[in-house]
This record gives sequence, C-alpha cells and structure tokens, in this order.
Amino acid sequence: MRKLAAGNWKMNGLTAQLPEVTALIAAHPAPACEVLLCPPATLVAAMAATAAGRIAIGGQDCHPKASGAHTGDIAAAMLKDAGATYVILGHSERRADHGETDALVRAKAEAAWAAGLTAIICVGETEAERDAGKTLTVIGTQLAGSVPDGATSANTVIAYEPVWAIGTGRTPTLPEIAEVHADLRARLTARFGADAGGFRLLYGGSVKPSNATEIFALPNVDGALVGGASLKASDFGAIVAALSAA
Ligand code: PEP
Repeated sequence: MRKLAAGNWKMNGLTAQLPEVTALIAAHPAPACEVLLCPPATLVAAMAATAAGRIAIGGQDCHPKASGAHTGDIAAAMLKDAGATYVILGHSERRADHGETDALVRAKAEAAWAAGLTAIICVGETEAERDAGKTLTVIGTQLAGSVPDGATSANTVIAYEPVWAIGTGRTPTLPEIAEVHADLRARLTARFGADAGGFRLLYGGSVKPSNATEIFALPNVDGALVGGASLKASDFGAIVAALSAA
C-alpha cells in the first residue's frame, strides 16, 4: 500500500498560489508516499499542468450525474478532463453546507468511478455525537451508507475527519484516532473481505507538522487529509516528509 498525503485547499487559492505547488515538488522530489492536492475547481487544470504528473491533483466534489442541466455543478468527467485523478466526496463541510446525505455521497462515488477517478469518502462525528458516546455508531452508519458496494482498495480511500477537529486546532487523542481507524478497518473487512486491508484510511482534522509524526505512527493510519496546513508548501512538505518516514 502506498500511503497518501492529501491536501484540501477548500475555497482558497488563486493562480498566484500555484508557485506553492512548484515549491512543494522542488522540496520533495521523490517522496516515499503519494502526494495529492485538491484545489478549488477553478485551479484543477492549471495545477495539473504545474504538477506535470509529479503529484496527483483532485477535485473537492462532483455531481452524481454525468452531464446535464445542473447549473454551477461539475461532473466527474470534467475533473478528469482537467487533469484530476481523485475527488473528495462527502466532506463534512459539504454535508453541513449543502445537506449532502450518505445516499448522495454514494451516488457521487459511483459517478467518480465511472469517470475513472478515485473517490476519497469522508466520515466523521460531531462533538455532540462524540460526547454522547456515539462516535463508532455514527461513523459506521456513514460508512455503510456512503460507500458503494463496488468499492475496492484501488478506487476508494476513506478519510476519518471528526467534524469538531476540522480547522479548530483540536484533535482527538491518539488512542481515539486508533480506535476509529481500527473500527473502520474491521467494518471494511466485514464487507469487502481481504481487499479491506489495502484500503487507505486517512486521518483528517488539524493535522500539522507538529502532530503528523505521532498520528502517522498509529496502526491503520495510512495518511492524512489536510486542510489549512496544505496551503503552504513548507507546512505540507513537512507532513509529506513525516508520512514518508512513517
Ligand atoms: C479538511 O478540511 O479536510 C481538514 C482536515 O481541515 P484542517 O486540516 O484545516 O483541519
């Protein structure tokens, strides 16, 4: 399994930020992990051209339909055509801001695969759900509902992102992260058998250079989905280096 350092630029980034990609590649020309950046849709083509295959590029969402009258939406094939090979689906910000359901995320994942993209499917509990002791139940429900039956270790990556840890500087304890990742692996094994061992399970939520090494040392953590710290080549590069060394 090749571990994955994935950056999510969210609604940040203009062409003026493309030199961050050049700097990242220059600082880490041969990482021992896969490196992915997911810029806003407006930058996918330009970033793919800048990356020239040295790192992977992904989208942050796609529509479940292949084409049609859906003003403002983007089809998976359009991302692929622009140079993307991955797409993030079901991020908690999309679940919250756009009311995305597990069923919709599942349909988007099937659309992503049909276009030849790898789907990064996000799951995670709110703080209230964690406080109520419902973390594993919530994540199990999201996983069952959001991941289509056709998922394989090649076409799907799972990202565990506690909603309360995203962009807050707070993270679960290391045992809490390990507990969720072990549960994710067990659920995938129950559903997909031996291939489940090959699924990459990313942790996301306030990963930064100072905590990356200890998180990457945990069992069943096969990389990270990084928001804020992916915007600067120096920070993201340090996380890439930590994953490469794990
Ligand atoms: C994210 O948006 O997926 C994320 C994990 O953000 P941050 O790293 O900023 O918490």
